[in-house]
Amino acid sequence: LPNIKDTDLLHIVHITAELAPIAKVGGLGDVVTGLGRACLSRGHKVDIMLPFYECIHKHNINELELVTTYASYHDGNWVPTNAYHGVVSGIEVIFIEPSNHFFKGESVYGGSYNELEAYLFFSRACLEWMQITGKEPDIIHVHEWQTSVLPLLYWDMYHYLSLQKPRIVLTIHNMEHYGECSQEQLNKCGLDGSLYGTLDKAVDDRTIGHNPERLSLLKGGIVYSNAVVTVSPTYLTETLCSGWLTRTLMQNRDKYIGILNGIDTTIWNPATDAFLPINYDALKVGGKKICKQFVQKGLGLASEDTENNNAAVRIPLIVCITRLVAQKGLHLIRHAIKLVEQLGGQMIILGKASNTQVEREFEDLANLHNKDSNIRILLMYSEELSHMLYAAADMVLVPSIYEPCGLAQMIGMRYGAVPVVRKTGGLADTVFDIDDHSQPEMANGFVFEGIDEESLDGALHRAFSYYQEKPNDWNRTVQNVMKIDNSWNNTAGKYIDLYNSIRVK
Ligand code: ADP
Repeated sequence: LPNIKDTDLLHIVHITAELAPIAKVGGLGDVVTGLGRACLSRGHKVDIMLPFYECIHKHNINELELVTTYASYHDGNWVPTNAYHGVVSGIEVIFIEPSNHFFKGESVYGGSYNELEAYLFFSRACLEWMQITGKEPDIIHVHEWQTSVLPLLYWDMYHYLSLQKPRIVLTIHNMEHYGECSQEQLNKCGLDGSLYGTLDKAVDDRTIGHNPERLSLLKGGIVYSNAVVTVSPTYLTETLCSGWLTRTLMQNRDKYIGILNGIDTTIWNPATDAFLPINYDALKVGGKKICKQFVQKGLGLASEDTENNNAAVRIPLIVCITRLVAQKGLHLIRHAIKLVEQLGGQMIILGKASNTQVEREFEDLANLHNKDSNIRILLMYSEELSHMLYAAADMVLVPSIYEPCGLAQMIGMRYGAVPVVRKTGGLADTVFDIDDHSQPEMANGFVFEGIDEESLDGALHRAFSYYQEKPNDWNRTVQNVMKIDNSWNNTAGKYIDLYNSIRVK
């Protein structure tokens, strides 16, 4: 990281459900680690508080030790709880481990405990820990619905008890996850749920007649935080125009801003990446071709090498690395498989479904295609493979229906994969069409607008022709996208400015 040092130093505590690489499900985990490390390198003190999920491998945590044994409230009882301290990717982490069944299971989400209640407990347990230890940061940074109750607990309870200094930032990574919660459930963390059933507090705007019984933790978090961030300027505009939270966001417009996520360029660096068979960079891209052949051979795909009957034919390899959920444009991903096959290209999907119907559909597709020499559908989560695939890819496909920010296109570009994306949210802020001649200096990929298959066809056709017919231009584009700075160095400063604007001096 370049040496930007701030002079006015802050103590920031992130309170989060995910943390890369030890408890990562999607982009949230990457963002907390990346932003945390960027602020740390600028001289600030950064801590992260995370549930001690049973699935976290303890050997991935450095210097792990028990630091506090205390009790935190849940549903009329005080639950004995351990707080551990450890270091992950250079950041100090406090792990909260209740003695009940919360956070047990084989994965971060989807355990057999009640998730809503577990995160209500966790949010309060973090404040309780600060109260007991007397640690008061300048900024408490909460993320998503899971920790959105914390601003309510802070301003309506702990601020009256003892905590005075912290001010609260909420980052919304995905507006679709509301944190649905009944008044009765909210009671379980010790708040009086009936006080929040009004439109100006936490009533879920989606319920007919605004049923005061149904609350949204995310909405409550928006109302009660000192500042609210979402993860790209375009998503900010989109969420102010339509969606269930529009009214709340408009009413809180003065404290609501869009800050584009960055990527952690230490973790995502083709010049040093230990997962790659060979390293490369924008000046010496040669290694990328070796990465492509390595992946092609490893997965049993045809390679230009083995096919060397016709050296003039270039086979573009397109990858799609994603959670397989509706938001990501599943019908477009399925369509891309067919189209890429027709066009004589190659496609690799690395994806994990969280619902059995989608899983079955993609399993059927995998059974159908994985015997071919050009398509691989890999239904799993693999950090290692994701690094290799970004490095091997000529293109990275992100056909999302909506996308608050999107990291796959930024990571892809860093590894020299030209993005093919739908124009929405953060994708619209980071990818600019090569055939749009109005801003040629920004051009870095292929963009389509519609959610229909024909729109995707157009962009993929253009990308494939460009790849096959203009190899020199293509190679120049590969080098250009690798040089784009989408790192946290570029955007962490915006968070620091925001923290400074709300902190108590
Ligand atoms: P979201 O947060 O909605 O999942 P993002 O694009 O913001 O989407 O972040 C996704 C992150 O998760 C990226 O780092 C991507 O490489 C990674 N990822 C998604 N699916 C997989 C998978 N099956 N295996 C490995 N990494 C994955």
